[in-house]
Amino acid sequence: MKKQIAILGAGPAGLYLAYQLLKRQDLNLDITIFEEKGYTGGLSASFFMGDKPLDYGSHRLHPSINSLILNDLKNLTGNDLKSKPRNGRIYLQEKFIKFPLNLFDILRNLSFGFFIKIISENIKKIFKNSKAKHGSFSEYLSAKLGETICSNFYFPYVKKIWGLDPDKISARQAEMRVSANSIFKILQKIMFTLFNVKSKNFFYYPKKGFGELFDDMTKNIIGKGTKVELHSIIKKIRTNKELVHLTVMKDNRTKDYNFDFLFSTIPVTSLINILEPVPSADVISGSFNLKYRSMVLFYLTLDQEKFSGFDAHYFPNEDVCFTRMSEPKNYFKVPDKSNKTTLCFEIPCYDYEYIWNSSNDDLLNNVLTDLNKTGLEINRKNITDYFSKRLSHAYPIFDLDYEKNYKTIDGYLKELHNIILLGRQALFMHDNVHHALQMAYDASQCYKTDGTWDTDRWEMFRRKFRDFKVED
Ligand SMILES: Cc1cc2nc3c(=O)[nH]c(=O)nc-3n(C[C@H](O)[C@H](O)[C@H](O)COP(=O)(O)OP(=O)(O)OC[C@H]3O[C@@H](n4cnc5c(N)ncnc54)[C@H](O)[C@@H]3O)c2cc1C
Repeated sequence: MKKQIAILGAGPAGLYLAYQLLKRQDLNLDITIFEEKGYTGGLSASFFMGDKPLDYGSHRLHPSINSLILNDLKNLTGNDLKSKPRNGRIYLQEKFIKFPLNLFDILRNLSFGFFIKIISENIKKIFKNSKAKHGSFSEYLSAKLGETICSNFYFPYVKKIWGLDPDKISARQAEMRVSANSIFKILQKIMFTLFNVKSKNFFYYPKKGFGELFDDMTKNIIGKGTKVELHSIIKKIRTNKELVHLTVMKDNRTKDYNFDFLFSTIPVTSLINILEPVPSADVISGSFNLKYRSMVLFYLTLDQEKFSGFDAHYFPNEDVCFTRMSEPKNYFKVPDKSNKTTLCFEIPCYDYEYIWNSSNDDLLNNVLTDLNKTGLEINRKNITDYFSKRLSHAYPIFDLDYEKNYKTIDGYLKELHNIILLGRQALFMHDNVHHALQMAYDASQCYKTDGTWDTDRWEMFRRKFRDFKVED
């Protein structure tokens, strides 16, 4: 008899898990995916403005993706996945410098004094005892990179992205998010770029927007019998040794389902809220104390062919409300030649802050005023349209207590042997799409032919996930 499998969340992790499970010849599964939104792809979806695809913030596929997974994506999208050199800029010391870093550009734009300070701090570090314990983001990164890089770039940037001072953020966040965590690694990257050695300074992007990857994946798994239930709100999950019972609300009607096994990629905090019997007070309180950062995405369409030649601009400085401005047109291998371009501004915030509820007119004024501070100007006469989107769970926040809180929840969830969590929101991890896909691939390998779960193998994979390094 077919085993009944439920997957919560139709983002990259949920979709690719279904895709991989269906590939296995030894399994006979009936898969249903429940998604609360009206579309699949999660944070990595695209939407259309007329005939132009736009993404939820800047999205690109990084070349460090596992080649097996890359092949799957290439097959799914036909010949649509193209590679393109990265071409961004960072606003540093009131100048724009190229990103990926370029030696000549750095020498041309950054002051000599700034450069010398960075080098001397890092030479001094060689002679210092660096065995001190680094509990916070600021302690960890100051010890690794010195004060000047941290105070001019990383510290204001992380404060904007995660809404906490760097001394209130866990060092784990720096371990996961800062791959060039020593001056030597930064210099190595600059040299590799200069001489074009081992360079990963390119990305993959599909012809019809980033979401094409997941639209095609959705079509593929539906074609193989998977049911994808959109607009579905999970109200209750009850589990016993044999079955998982789900109560799902769709179109104002609730329906009950029984499954043999459930995979969840939805925020772990949402899952805890709907589990029955209700978990202990410790677990509820651990979940309550885990926080996600939200994000407002503000889109602006201009009546001009291009605003800049760059794919993304990064803004670490605190007096500018957005962290990144991307120009989606420049992500395509062959940009369209139409006389319109759209810019996307990423504004991280909490969902209780005023910016979350700001009107589009207020957002427009804030964005234009702040952009002006950097010397980039938009002529208001050229604006033909503006609108915004909201992401409620953009980033997990690794505050100083998050590990303790997460462990309490994780310990409880491990006891539920027919529910497995994976993906960015469920494992409360900073990740890229290729990491979410890797987690799904690995999870598909742990589901055994007899329908049981290979706990040891999954634990081994989960330890490996801790080494993921996020790329921006
Ligand atoms: C602004 C931004 C830019 C990014 N840029 C890049 C990039 O350039 N390159 C890159 O590799 N990665 C990037 N990422 C990361 C990438 O988006 C994620 O790694 C990836 O989407 C994670 O996939 P996932 O399936 O684990 O989670 P998600 O994409 O979050 O999918 C989870 C799904 O679960 C659904 N869901 C949530 N709650 C419920 C519920 N209660 N019931 C039912 N469904 C629910 C959601 O609607 C969503 O569809 C970016 C992320 C952000 C926020």
